[in-house]
Amino acid sequence: LPAIEGDFYHLGDEALKDEDRALQLKVRAFMEKEVQPIVNEYWNRAEFPFELIPKLAELNICGLTYQGYGCPGKSNLMEGILAMEMARVDTSISTFFGVQSGLAMGSIYLLGSEEQKQEWLPGMQQFKIIGAFGLTEPEVGSAAAGGLTTTAKRTGDTWVINGQKKWIGNATFSDVTIIWARDVDDNEVKGFLVRKGTPGISVEKMQDKMALRIVQNGLITLTNCTVHESDRLQNANSFKDTAKVLRMTRAGVAWQAVGCARGAYENALAYTQTRKQFGKPIASFQLVQNHLVEMLSNLTAMQTLCFRLSQLQDQNLLKDEHASLAKVFCSLRTRDVVSKAREVMGGNGILLEYNVARFVADAEAIYSYEGTKEINSLIVGRAITGFSAFV
Ligand code: FAD
Repeated sequence: LPAIEGDFYHLGDEALKDEDRALQLKVRAFMEKEVQPIVNEYWNRAEFPFELIPKLAELNICGLTYQGYGCPGKSNLMEGILAMEMARVDTSISTFFGVQSGLAMGSIYLLGSEEQKQEWLPGMQQFKIIGAFGLTEPEVGSAAAGGLTTTAKRTGDTWVINGQKKWIGNATFSDVTIIWARDVDDNEVKGFLVRKGTPGISVEKMQDKMALRIVQNGLITLTNCTVHESDRLQNANSFKDTAKVLRMTRAGVAWQAVGCARGAYENALAYTQTRKQFGKPIASFQLVQNHLVEMLSNLTAMQTLCFRLSQLQDQNLLKDEHASLAKVFCSLRTRDVVSKAREVMGGNGILLEYNVARFVADAEAIYSYEGTKEINSLIVGRAITGFSAFV
């Protein structure tokens, strides 16, 4: 298999088996041929390119690491590399994918009963069923662990859910949304599979985001929304269970940050090699090279950290603080890389058509979702000091 240019710095052939390398190249080709040509227009219009969904399904990469239910059962390293490949071209598509494959399917895979897994996972793997994950609320973001205000009250075999959820990716068109709510009787957080069209759920598209504009985020209102006990995630008994999902998806977000940084870096590098000032390519100036090397250093450090993170995951050694450390480091460094990429492109760095501005904006969303820098830092801080500084 041909080496991917630049991979000397980015963990190359030695990291993957031939068939996995081939899959990486397939996903890369899909993103470059099918997504890149249309992405700026969709991003600009804040619309979702639904025509990509069947093509994404054909790649057969959804639920990549899960065993059974039509899922490929590949390594966490492979999943991380593919998250990077997607985000390298577009972070919105990679986020749509992450919500479907990680947050929504992952909740069912990790916390659902056997019947629930059988019912949902094969269709979701094929993108025939689209999922969403509703944890955050208008007034409760970082404090979700102890502060959820959405309530669930059980009467006989039914649950009545009331509350609001904000920022929920894919929610405007999802077939099933996992709603996390506090059981008023035992005060524990539980997860509910709320089907599209269930009376009492309404979704409003969030407007005018300046990042990840392709991702359709919804404001969900639940008013006496009634769900059968059989649609409660059977193995989600407290927020500690929700955290198992977040631990897994945070690792994916760290890889996604690498992709976002890499996309910006590669576009900026190519630009500096052709853009001329003072009669020479700007890449020939020492100060511009210094910026490029700083970007590459960050990128290499991020990718090496994520590689180690995936190794731990593949050995079942992943802890919350590992995923949080990687998420903090990578989302912070990505902000730095995309801003330098923008810098070396001068004015064109803020034009969508030059393919760096979108990464600059999207890095801001990566920075805040799946736990802000502060919250993930506090998770690491608690682990290394033994003191919780959350409250
Ligand atoms: P807040 O919690 O209000 O935080 C504001 C600031 O206060 C931050 O800087 C934060 O770090 C800081 N802060 C808060 N508490 C502390 C503390 N104890 N110590 C120090 N600093 C603190 N959620 C979902 O459930 N599903 C989704 O699909 C989803 N998708 C998203 C997509 C996008 C594009 C975005 C932007 C968000 C998404 N979210 C989703 C929500 C996301 O997880 C939250 O935005 C995030 O958890 C932060 O919550 P918040 O925005 O309410 O900020």
